[in-house]
Amino acid sequence: MRRLTFLLFPLVLATCSTDTPRIQPVTEWSQESADFQVEARTFQEISRKVGKEARAECLRQAKVSNCDFTILVDLNPRAPANAFQTVDDRDQPVIIFTRAMIQSAQNADELAFVMGHEAAHHVLGHIGRQTQNAKESAVIFGDLGKLYGEDGKDLERSQKLGAEVGTQINVKEFELEADQLGTIITHNAGYNPLVGAKYFARIPDPGDRFLGTHPPNAQRVQIVLDTARQLGLTE
Ligand SMILES: [Zn+2]
Repeated sequence: MRRLTFLLFPLVLATCSTDTPRIQPVTEWSQESADFQVEARTFQEISRKVGKEARAECLRQAKVSNCDFTILVDLNPRAPANAFQTVDDRDQPVIIFTRAMIQSAQNADELAFVMGHEAAHHVLGHIGRQTQNAKESAVIFGDLGKLYGEDGKDLERSQKLGAEVGTQINVKEFELEADQLGTIITHNAGYNPLVGAKYFARIPDPGDRFLGTHPPNAQRVQIVLDTARQLGLTE
């Protein structure tokens, strides 16, 4: 939270449009149009509180080297409702919310919960673990390709496919882990994760597809309820 970074190359891809992304540090966001000021202030407050607790948890768990979270807003009005976590080239964790995501939340608890979830991905070292899975799977697929006499472009294609499959390994497990730790971070930051998790009720349920990127919503709600119970929270 202490340092602001503008270098966000992985996120430029994520906005997936030809518009230049208008990404701003959350601290400067209030300079936007007046009718957006209240939401900007609320969001800044959430960022400060959740960012502080995420940093504390990150330092406590010591799984990653950089715990200085930067929270940014993508002001592109055409960017769909989304929030994601990445790291910049110095491994500094960056969490980015699109404006549509902020507007789609019904209360501060929902935004805090989504932020806690994204921060948890970093605290738990998920990007590093995903990269490792992709590398290992690329090697396995490459070896299989060689066994079938592949070389050149064909072999390269197999390795690429392997990396893609590898990225999907553990991905649902990572989501549930992030929901669990996200519940704790949200609670520590002074927000109610049980209210926050109601957000799941409004987003499309991915069901239980093989190699799907997200677990079914019911499973996610359950882990939040279990964790909240351990924290002494009741609905
Ligand atoms: Zn996630």
